Amino acid sequence: MKNQQQYPFKTNEMNIHNVKPKQTAFKFDRENLEIEEWQEQMKNQVDTLEELEKYINVTDEERDAIRNTTAKWGTTPYFASLMDREDPNDPIRKQVVPSKYEKENRYGIENYLIFKENRSGKEDRPDTIARQYRDRIAFTVVNKCGIYCRHCFRKELVVDETLDLHFNVDEGLDWIREHKEIREVLVTGGDPLLLTDDKIEYIIQKLRENPHIEMIRFGSRLPVVLPQRVTSGLKRVLGGYHKVPIWLNTQCNHAKEITELTARAVWDLLTSGVNVGNQAVLMKGINDDEKSFQELHQTLLNIRIRPYYVFYLEPAPGIDHFRTPVEKGAELIRDTIRGHTSGLAQPMYVIATNIGKIPLMPDYYIQEKNEKEYILKNHRGETTTLPNIPQ
Ligand code: SF4
Repeated sequence: MKNQQQYPFKTNEMNIHNVKPKQTAFKFDRENLEIEEWQEQMKNQVDTLEELEKYINVTDEERDAIRNTTAKWGTTPYFASLMDREDPNDPIRKQVVPSKYEKENRYGIENYLIFKENRSGKEDRPDTIARQYRDRIAFTVVNKCGIYCRHCFRKELVVDETLDLHFNVDEGLDWIREHKEIREVLVTGGDPLLLTDDKIEYIIQKLRENPHIEMIRFGSRLPVVLPQRVTSGLKRVLGGYHKVPIWLNTQCNHAKEITELTARAVWDLLTSGVNVGNQAVLMKGINDDEKSFQELHQTLLNIRIRPYYVFYLEPAPGIDHFRTPVEKGAELIRDTIRGHTSGLAQPMYVIATNIGKIPLMPDYYIQEKNEKEYILKNHRGETTTLPNIPQ
């Protein structure tokens, strides 16, 4: 287990949310020292009612939902330890524990991933490759996760497991090698950092062998739900000064998810040369109130994570209970971020669609436009003018 004294700064110096992981209920297997702590966490995933009851007082409704679900659910013991024992509305608990509302579907599209990732289109691609842009693709290398988020837009693949993909990584690498128009690869899943260091290194090496690949990105929730994954081995594999850099985007949806261990994992990634951004998902009852939204983005910055996107919840089936009106994210940026806190804390609010990401930013800035000038409005409602320059 890592020595936490090596952590290079103290929590109170950084003003991060004062949440420390509680003692986890699982027992660390000290006899098998070959296994790293993160692997031990995965071996002990909290995915039974009996295990869950060690962390929270499960309500009757939660118990019924767990008994009636056929979908995968579970969390790392570490992330489970951040849940509030008594409060069923705790923002972490709602992302982890199945709900009876997952059986309802008013707004979600059946076979959503086939539609969203253009899997039934004209282009013949391996199952591992999803494409919405000419020069960028998502490369799905695994369907396992540290936690099985109840709001996941890829739930048909990783949570419900109704979409059966063929994960042949070499086949995907061959396709990328042959498609010289691809500049950027997002390695995704599931959670690609659950692969062993050797496998991750293999994928990175093979991608870097292609002169047309200019950037490799990883999408991973592990810095948040399993920060123990950022080991010296992983830093060696991801880090260093390379012509083809690694960028990592994680997903953190509430400031309560951020602990000292998250901060240290992010520091370790950054000091290895890996840029870290956040892609939050806007969700009713989790982060759609002004306080939670602002605190999330300020706390991310405090631990050096750049808020990158806030996603509108995609129309995947069975997640309607997390939906907000479309305008909600733009309003929250207008009312809590833009002009209210550091501009660095401002994410872009987007909806990810089958034709790419579409920004849904606040549109209040241009109040009026005429031949001579623009009338612009700020977050306080004050106006100013700017000359309208003819072509
Ligand atoms: S970690 Fe990502 S892929 Fe896995 S369940 Fe959560 S949102 Fe979905």
